[in-house]
Amino acid sequence: MSSEIILLEPVTRSLCKALLARWEEGMHPPLRVTHTLRTNDEQMHLYQQGRRLENGVWRVVDAKAIVTKAMPGESAHNFGAAFDVCFQGTDPYLHRFEVEHGTPDPLWNLLGETGAKLGLEWGGSWKSFKDRPHFQRPDWKSLRAQGGRFGRMVPRPEKHHAHRWHGAGRGGERVAGAADGGHRGRAGEVAAGPRGPDARAA
Ligand SMILES: [Zn+2]
Repeated sequence: MSSEIILLEPVTRSLCKALLARWEEGMHPPLRVTHTLRTNDEQMHLYQQGRRLENGVWRVVDAKAIVTKAMPGESAHNFGAAFDVCFQGTDPYLHRFEVEHGTPDPLWNLLGETGAKLGLEWGGSWKSFKDRPHFQRPDWKSLRAQGGRFGRMVPRPEKHHAHRWHGAGRGGERVAGAADGGHRGRAGEVAAGPRGPDARAA
């Protein structure tokens, strides 16, 4: 799991830099980029958390351990077209405000709006689940369709995991989510909660 901005594909990279610069101009609490490119192997590792393959279908065995709905190739991170951020300091996900007021810290919305104005899609605006730390290039699926150079630099899942996931698990458990780019926080944060500092797929 990388946090290097240089590993983002060029369009997403410049959007990321623009967001960081615009945010800094506003004298807001500083941001930190936590995740950028995620290989298919890393995606598979995340997907397996809380699940077990039974008779060719992935079953959720520990809902609290679920960190993603996206299989390899289903997250914009797999194409270097998404990045996650948090705030520097002792409360990286601004959790305290939400605990005290029952509503997300307004800074999240301000950050999301700032990203949207620059042309980014913000995970905090998704309907099915909120993923506030997440920004992605809205047309990232075109990268997947092209199999472009950033698509190819990610290891092909078939080589490593064909026996573990290829053609399996597409029914059953995969009913909700993923439509927004297949990225979500831990179970229980679907409706409202920001990620805790321990969120692994942020
Ligand atoms: Zn993300």
